[in-house]
Amino acid sequence: MKKKTTWNGEYKDIPFEIQNFSLGDINGWTFYIYLREKQLDSDFFESIWLDGKPMEFAPRHISYDYYNSPIGNLDFHGGCTWYSKEGGYDGAQRVVKAGCDYQHYFDEAHRYNEILIEDDVRECIESLYAITTPKRWCTYCGDYFCPDGEEKLCPNCKNNKEAPKLKAEDIVIGDKPCENISMGKK
Ligand SMILES: [Zn+2]
Repeated sequence: MKKKTTWNGEYKDIPFEIQNFSLGDINGWTFYIYLREKQLDSDFFESIWLDGKPMEFAPRHISYDYYNSPIGNLDFHGGCTWYSKEGGYDGAQRVVKAGCDYQHYFDEAHRYNEILIEDDVRECIESLYAITTPKRWCTYCGDYFCPDGEEKLCPNCKNNKEAPKLKAEDIVIGDKPCENISMGKK
């Protein structure tokens, strides 16, 4: 059994998760970013939705060659060490979870905390913006749109006061994987 503390947040519209866990003598840290299909350019998303292969010496485990995908170019601490496909079943949107850990030999002398890790998360997300421009979630209708500055509403909602307001029952679990969705906070 291990004890784990999780922090969730968003930076530049990209959800992230930081974890701290203890396992025996290990005080471990990891972080993950969530790459949502609806939020990303479709060619870009296809290039990170990878085909898995059974591992040669452990055929029940599936490996993904993420180093040779755009994920290999993201600024993860010590390089990406986690890739998983989330969602995508039964019509749910596809999400890639990618992350890294702080259990390298060069981490041994360091004392990390969530503030330091969050700085690394921001750099990682900045490195995503260096290669693609994610869309933003409209807080009114729930669609993704190409943002103009700090605008929180999509052009349709901004220009059309009659636009249908997102109702709690319209939200599909998984649309915002890292957030507790609270409605009515326009
Ligand atoms: Zn909208």
